[in-house]
Amino acid sequence: MPTPEQYDVVVLGSGEAGKYIAWTQAKKGKRAIVIERRYIGGSCPNIACLPSKNIIHSAKVASYFARSEEFGITKDNWQIHMTGVRDSKRKMVDGLVDMHLANFKSSGAELLLGSGRFIAPKTIEVSLPDDGSRFLHGENIIISTGSRATIEPIPGLREAGPLTHIEALELDHLPEHLLIIGGGYIGLEFAQAMRRFGSKVTIIERNSRLAHREDEDVTAMLSDIFRDECIEILTNATVTGVEGKSGDRVKLHAQRNGGKTALEGTHILVATGRTPNTQNIGLELAGVQTTERGHVKVNERLQTTAPGVWAVGDCAGSPHFTHIAFDDHRVVTDNLAGGHRVTTGRQVPFCMFTDPELARIGLSETEAKQRGIAYRLTKIPMIAVLRTRTLSETRGFLKALIDTDSDRILGFTALGVEGGEIIATVQVAMLAGMPYTALRDTIFTHPTMLEGLIPLFAAVPSKK
Ligand SMILES: Cc1cc2nc3c(=O)[nH]c(=O)nc-3n(C[C@H](O)[C@H](O)[C@H](O)COP(=O)(O)OP(=O)(O)OC[C@H]3O[C@@H](n4cnc5c(N)ncnc54)[C@H](O)[C@@H]3O)c2cc1C
Repeated sequence: MPTPEQYDVVVLGSGEAGKYIAWTQAKKGKRAIVIERRYIGGSCPNIACLPSKNIIHSAKVASYFARSEEFGITKDNWQIHMTGVRDSKRKMVDGLVDMHLANFKSSGAELLLGSGRFIAPKTIEVSLPDDGSRFLHGENIIISTGSRATIEPIPGLREAGPLTHIEALELDHLPEHLLIIGGGYIGLEFAQAMRRFGSKVTIIERNSRLAHREDEDVTAMLSDIFRDECIEILTNATVTGVEGKSGDRVKLHAQRNGGKTALEGTHILVATGRTPNTQNIGLELAGVQTTERGHVKVNERLQTTAPGVWAVGDCAGSPHFTHIAFDDHRVVTDNLAGGHRVTTGRQVPFCMFTDPELARIGLSETEAKQRGIAYRLTKIPMIAVLRTRTLSETRGFLKALIDTDSDRILGFTALGVEGGEIIATVQVAMLAGMPYTALRDTIFTHPTMLEGLIPLFAAVPSKK
């Protein structure tokens, strides 16, 4: 091995946490380099959050066209061209990649395109696209390799060439009948978007409910909304075998409620979870251990089992959200500066970008019950929020859990239009330790969605 080039920080993978760590260190005058094999800036801007939301927005526009007469507008013979949908997404992604390149340039962090793997402690070999190699040694190394769609070992599934989110975001044609394996947030977001473009869509979910970790009233309403859009939902169904080729004709065999069932369609989309990208990167040569589920083993400061090696984002088992990966950057950045910042106890808000959105911060009722935490419940239908009537988007509800002894907010769920925006206000109130009464008594602008927090918190049952 030639003498490795010396860096202060070497980042493996240019995802959310890794790139921000590199940019921040480089701006402080450190020598920082990021190794990226394919997606400049990681999954979020290229193949995950942002392109999926772009496509979901196109699907929302399609749904407005479908409902146009409701708004007094007619447009005859409107059509959906998936190439146009894809091109709009590609244009956005190109802009995001340019933005990332500019950030690398202005920060002074180096971007090296190639595939990296450890060959010794704190030493990485990078295989370059032209078949050459570079050897890098870092005072600190950050593992930021992310995760990929899990393809379960179901007979015939891999051979069928199913779509993952990556190919689904690149479709130039409309699947006639899309079979989606998995009713979690990725599957549900795609299901609704593809249905709105005109595909027949069937969701196959092994649990008894869609988004099964959410409260029953949440998933019941989501299912109603999906059924209203003619999305077929099969719960308690475990796929046992696949025949045919996705993109042509496919047949799924499944066990359901003790019996067997078969489903035919034209395309399969797998959305059954994520596998961390921790194999074949030489972790064992660097003293970096993994957990049973394959994530890099980290402590609450995001240090791995090897000194000077850190892991962040999906590959470290952090909750799989870009905003959490961003916070991992803050944790490592502070710790590199000698601080003691930890991941324990941090808020994990989330939003599923179905229409309407499902957003939650803090405890759900299910979690509160499981943990034996007593709460007071308040819940109002979205139609009680007047803004939803002006938008003709009245489906859903808001609900909050309030402590029984104090007026502390324990959790908040918004299943409704702009749910992802609404939770932010409640989240900040929770961070600040404000009582629910402060939100109840705030003067919110009329008519906005946040105004709905007033009737919601006005309906909190009094303490016993
Ligand atoms: C369809 C979809 C929609 C999503 N929507 C949302 C959303 O709306 N909001 C949200 O918060 N989260 C969303 N997520 C989750 C979010 O995308 C991830 O949690 C986040 O991108 C994880 O960032 P990361 O830095 O850990 O990994 P990544 O962004 O995946 O970055 C890892 C990078 O490392 C590179 N890499 C891996 N191995 C090597 C190697 N050996 N050498 C060189 N490079 C390597 C990869 O190419 C990749 O670019 C979504 C995910 C999916 C799949």
